[in-house]
Amino acid sequence: MRDWLLWRLPPAAIGYVLGVEAAAIALVALVFTTGRHPDPRELQTFAALAGTAFAVIVITSVSIKLRKQIRRDPWTLHIVYLAAGILLLPPNLLVLLLLGPTLHGVLDNRPEPYRWLFTTAATGIAMFTGRAVVGWDEPQWNPLTFFALGVVLLMMRAIVVAGGIRLRDPEAKRQAVLGEPIDVLLGIVAASLGGLLAVAMNEQPISVLLAAPPMVLLDLAGQLPTWRRTAQRDSKTGLSNAEHWERTARVELLRACQRGHPVAVLLADLDHFKKVNDEIGHLAGDTVLAAVAMMLQANVRGDDSVGRFGGEEFVILLPGTDPQTACKVAERIRLAAEVMSVPARDIHGMHRDLTDLTVSVGVATTSRFGYELTDLLVAADAAMLAAKASGRNAISLA
Ligand code: GH3
Ligand code: MG
Ligand code: MG
Repeated sequence: MRDWLLWRLPPAAIGYVLGVEAAAIALVALVFTTGRHPDPRELQTFAALAGTAFAVIVITSVSIKLRKQIRRDPWTLHIVYLAAGILLLPPNLLVLLLLGPTLHGVLDNRPEPYRWLFTTAATGIAMFTGRAVVGWDEPQWNPLTFFALGVVLLMMRAIVVAGGIRLRDPEAKRQAVLGEPIDVLLGIVAASLGGLLAVAMNEQPISVLLAAPPMVLLDLAGQLPTWRRTAQRDSKTGLSNAEHWERTARVELLRACQRGHPVAVLLADLDHFKKVNDEIGHLAGDTVLAAVAMMLQANVRGDDSVGRFGGEEFVILLPGTDPQTACKVAERIRLAAEVMSVPARDIHGMHRDLTDLTVSVGVATTSRFGYELTDLLVAADAAMLAAKASGRNAISLA
């Protein structure tokens, strides 16, 4: 515990994480000491709900392990049985359902235990707040409380977790703090399924079995952003990979062709990049590629698509851009590369600031080569080679 990464966080973040965990532990203690004895039907409902949740958690964890994948936050699956539990169980049985997220953390062998202990505490706080909203002693069953429960369960945990992420890393990207849009949709589906499950189990506890397959499916669907990223992104630079860039470019070109808008394609190739690899090392080379990717994105608009085409070649699609403007963008990129200073480690592990990086950029535009992507790429490639032939660190318009 002493070597937990938690202790290396900023003091405010440590305080926040410990505060959330202390609040969750206090709530758990309060519930255990003040609750009434559950009746046999509640015990039966608890056994059916917990048993099914346990089976789903084990199945999803084992299947992820067998496929050697790294799991994303598996929260959606837990919303289902927690929402049903909030509506059906007395608080002292409900609290035991928190063993579900804990079990997931243990089974997935997740590093940094403080993180999943913290998210489990956030889950507990959201769960008890949800219970307080629907009625602590006797949950009220009406459309309003069902709706309020869904909202509180999803929002409360999101807010508590987002607070932790912000304090840990004030620069964190919006998506890291708020989650992916699909997580919101899956959360709503999970909360709705939890409500339906409560209604069905109120009639017949064994109907929980019908919720198991959708719970597994929710867990699988929660992995979609990871799969999409690996299918579309280049892992070294985070840019679109060649295949995804081409697909996007073809769609943009078709749209621009129909509207008669000009489009430009830029092909940028690092000059003498082999020297970086040979003299400083391949890891330093990779660091340069990532820095160049960031530089390119910083020098184009949000609607432009930057992709990694091959080794040290990058492509940029500039919709609505005439040849003159495209050359200005290419020149801006050339100048930005010149002044780059990339901190890296050389083959001896020594720190080095890599400078004197230059690019040669070929520019091709639809006004001269039409809207076929292949024609534009061939022309941009020829222009890039012409820029190399002219002595490198240059731009050339096809
Ligand atoms: P030029 O100015 O003519 O473009 O010279 P260059 O050395 O950049 O060109 P060349 O095509 O000869 O070499 C490209 C090098 O890019 C060769 C390869 O080792 C390196 N490379 C390609 N992909 C990667 C990668 O992912 N990481 C690293 N570190 N290097 C890469
Ligand atoms: Mg090169
Ligand atoms: Mg090259």
